[in-house]
Amino acid sequence: ANHLCDALLRQASHRPEAIFATDADGRIQTLGELAEGAARMAGVLRGFGVSPGERVAVQVEKSLSALELYLGTVMAGGLFLPLNTAYTETELSYFLNDATPRVFVCDPTKREMLRAAATQAGTQTLLTLDRRGQGTLTHAQAQAAPMVFPVPRGPDDMAAILYTSGTTGRSKGAMLSHHALLSNSRTLADLWRFTESDVLVHALPIFHTHGLFVASNVALLSGASLIFLPGFDADAILEAMPNATTMMGVPTFYTRLLADPRLTRDRAASMRLFISGSAPLLAETHRDWERRTGHRILERYGMTETNMNTSNPYDGERRPGTVGFALPDVELRIMGEDGVEMPTGETGMIEVRGPNVFSGYWRMPEKTAEELRPDGWFITGDLGRVDTDGYITIVGRAKDLIISGGFNIYPKEVESLIDDLPGVLESAVIGVPHPDFGEAVVAIVVADGSADLTGSELLAGIAGDLARFKHPKKVIFVDALPRNTMGKVQKAALRKAHAGLFD
Ligand code: ATP
Ligand code: MG
Repeated sequence: ANHLCDALLRQASHRPEAIFATDADGRIQTLGELAEGAARMAGVLRGFGVSPGERVAVQVEKSLSALELYLGTVMAGGLFLPLNTAYTETELSYFLNDATPRVFVCDPTKREMLRAAATQAGTQTLLTLDRRGQGTLTHAQAQAAPMVFPVPRGPDDMAAILYTSGTTGRSKGAMLSHHALLSNSRTLADLWRFTESDVLVHALPIFHTHGLFVASNVALLSGASLIFLPGFDADAILEAMPNATTMMGVPTFYTRLLADPRLTRDRAASMRLFISGSAPLLAETHRDWERRTGHRILERYGMTETNMNTSNPYDGERRPGTVGFALPDVELRIMGEDGVEMPTGETGMIEVRGPNVFSGYWRMPEKTAEELRPDGWFITGDLGRVDTDGYITIVGRAKDLIISGGFNIYPKEVESLIDDLPGVLESAVIGVPHPDFGEAVVAIVVADGSADLTGSELLAGIAGDLARFKHPKKVIFVDALPRNTMGKVQKAALRKAHAGLFD
């Protein structure tokens, strides 16, 4: 089947009684119930006039009903458009005006607040769904006739618009086709050896590619079941672990779990695979995790626009600090500023091409033209290198590159040295406007409390390993680095906060 929904719900027709998910309250949903729920959601949406190509925007808490809504939207031929639950009214107003959805589903508590924004964006139907899966949407769902056959869609038709995280600027809506989503989920389910006997701890949000497409699609395709948790909670995850076989998480999941003494080899005994992505996993975290649980975390690299691009191997060495190899159906190259491919081992812009790549940014033709080449190569905005044995290392984002006195400085090189110093938990190195140098290197450092570290001691500790022009001009100690829900360090926010440092 090429229809995303057919493929995702195929297991349901073979094994309707099999468990699809267990939620935090122990409530069980079978595959048959999921398929029935999705078909009814599709019925509701059709009733509200959703026709192929139309957007169904959704800002709701995580629930199994929200997953049914995702599947139902695709079944009805619509484009699923999930939005971060943290977005405020002003932000939502932007997204609604940009996406002009036919239907908008929000939390009941926000309905009144968002009504005007929805109306202004031309949205005809406003429905509600709360964290327990209740609301006017589920009410309509109970009454609706289930859609029997999904609205036919071709492989190149869109199934979703997913907004990027907005780490480097305004979020962009990535248009994702049936084929892009399906091919990538198949590749991953295969590579990571997912089967019906897997139980995946699902604690990621479902408005982002990691929790929605990587985790949910892979589980659905392979017939694996989910322990479906509302969000990260160490207690709940540690409780779930002995009943699970796999987990997908962002790096902060792993560092927070490591901080809990209940994480032991015994507790992870039934697990076969821990996967990390969405932000860099420190090599140290990888090693600590192995020491504690006996498992080597499998790190992979992806983005909203492409789903997953690379992965460490299932068998073979999972190399800490790297994101492994390009996926079997993904091409990856490292390009220099002059548009020429860089030699092995040298750092440049990562570009990828393959069936996983998106079809363009929603209503941003200029942006699409800047980042998506006519021959299919996507310019990721990430800098990286490929080692002689093929392992790919992400060096950082091009927008975070510091140019000081005409020299390029990769923040990660400086961060790695700082992080290795005793007394340091983590750091973020940024470029801040400077009257003489253009930009000056500034280190934002979180101490781990084990040693009393001063800025000059820190500088002395790294000076020997670092060319003079890369030395931080200033060291600022903070309690924590600003991170978003996906555990991404908000460097743009740091640059803004410290912009006046050298005025
Ligand atoms: P925006 O594009 O709006 O600035 P964003 O790039 O953070 O936001 P996402 O699509 O959620 O939005 O994130 C993709 C980015 O996350 C990648 O481009 C990369 O920088 C980073 N990333 C993902 N996985 C990894 C990883 N394993 N190691 C390092 N970085 C990663
Ligand atoms: Mg991005």
